[in-house]
Amino acid sequence: MAGTGIFTEILDGEVYKYYSDGEWKTSSSGKSVAIINPSTRKTQYKVQACTQEEVNKVMELAKSAQKSWAKTPLWKRAELLHKAAAILKDNKTPIAESLVKEIAKPAKDSVTEVVRSGDLISYCAEEGVRILGEGKFLLSDSFPGNERTKYCLTSKIPLGVVLAIPPFNYPVNLAVSKIAPALIAGNSLVLKPPTQGAVSCLHMVHCFHLAGFPKGLISCITGKGSEIGDFLTMHPAVNCISFTGGDTGISISKKAGMIPLQMELGGKDACIVLEDADLDLVASNIIKGGFSYSGQRCTAVKVVLVMESVADELVEKVKAKVAKLTVGPPEENCDITAVVSESSANFIEGLVMDAKDKGATFCQEYKREGNLIWPLLLDNVRPDMRIAWEEPFGPVLPVLRINSVEEGINHCNASNFGLQGCVFTKDINKAILISDAMETGTVQINSAPARGPDHFPFQGLKDSGIGSQGVTNSINLMTKVKTTVINLPTPSYSMGHGFISRL
Ligand code: NAP
Repeated sequence: MAGTGIFTEILDGEVYKYYSDGEWKTSSSGKSVAIINPSTRKTQYKVQACTQEEVNKVMELAKSAQKSWAKTPLWKRAELLHKAAAILKDNKTPIAESLVKEIAKPAKDSVTEVVRSGDLISYCAEEGVRILGEGKFLLSDSFPGNERTKYCLTSKIPLGVVLAIPPFNYPVNLAVSKIAPALIAGNSLVLKPPTQGAVSCLHMVHCFHLAGFPKGLISCITGKGSEIGDFLTMHPAVNCISFTGGDTGISISKKAGMIPLQMELGGKDACIVLEDADLDLVASNIIKGGFSYSGQRCTAVKVVLVMESVADELVEKVKAKVAKLTVGPPEENCDITAVVSESSANFIEGLVMDAKDKGATFCQEYKREGNLIWPLLLDNVRPDMRIAWEEPFGPVLPVLRINSVEEGINHCNASNFGLQGCVFTKDINKAILISDAMETGTVQINSAPARGPDHFPFQGLKDSGIGSQGVTNSINLMTKVKTTVINLPTPSYSMGHGFISRL
């Protein structure tokens, strides 16, 4: 159970503590933030509402802890990360339980998220040892006009304090995808978890605590993003921000100082279906891509662009599969569970009603109870409908019928988002041309969009992000190149003995 066993010390009465200076603490604010269970719509947990002074303290500690951490041998940093990964995986049950309660993620998927996160930490430790254990050696005589008198040594150095802000939908996985690369690279880390998902994150942080990381190196500040977010992101001690979430990321980018940013933001991933596609494969991928975790995934299929000639057949196949989706509590592993909040459910409903008013075809009856929205496929959606462009982040999927591949590509490219997309066809040559034409960070051929496996590069174009994720890219983003140049008085060529006599 959450907050019990090895996790007892992270709880103060009914409020979870925050983590600073290697200790679990109660905020001096005397205030807490409620975490509402999306299924019951009742308060499930409470976390500390941290103050600006507490943020200042954490930043000060992070700055000083980083200096010694950067001098800790790489293999020792990796060893601690492996230890944290093992503790996390051993304690998957209480962490998964809190994911079920605070973000209504189906129980099985919640366990998968924790295990996947442990694997990601370990992979990052291994990859970090290789990437950071190597540098470059450059010789000056490759550039015109130079003799071989300069030896240039390059290596990667940490940035300092990394601020990590993950979203509610994968709070543990998207937190460790920032924490592990930051730490292996010699940075310190301040985590601001999403409010819905904070308790799962606090449990995860405790696994790092138990692994024995130095005091002050990792901290976790809780509180509403709208209240402490600006203070954190504009804090002068922060040397890098790794953020995953919605449009908030765009405003953070505008306010942040001259520091590297890793922004993984929203998406409107298109699924382009050609006439020769295997429609059974497409239908399964639309179900998996559009309705897993009730559509609350950045890489969910968010618009289907299907050739008119096969649209009727595809819609029938998808409808048949939608009818089989189970709807209900996450504890029972239902496919469709309550969306994260009432405001999210209201937003989704607004998109549905707009589509209704403008004449979309409802393949199922629209049904909602509290935050629970039944899966809905909307056919004959047109570009004048909001749902053709906006991200519902819920179990509602629009189908636009197209008369040419160009029409599909144009729709995809007219979006302000550019996260992922997918194309279904048996013609690999066409698939490559379409993939190249789509203005998105990734295109999947004959499969639904997906972020994983977690070591693949993952990036969004346009409003979908800045920088690239994936283990290697994150490590690189959280480091800077440092060079040392050795200057020789006379040119020296390997194996050239001629000059020795001149010494
Ligand atoms: P969100 O509302 O943007 O929140 C993301 C995080 O930002 C939360 O931790 C939130 O804290 C915090 N926050 C809010 N206001 C802030 C501020 N002013 N300064 C700093 N931090 C602030 O997003 P969400 O609803 O959690 O997640 C859904 C969105 O994430 C969707 O748009 C989805 O597409 C996107 N997403 C993208 C990716 C990707 O990799 N591209 C992956 C997953 C999700 P509070 O919870 O306390 O408000």
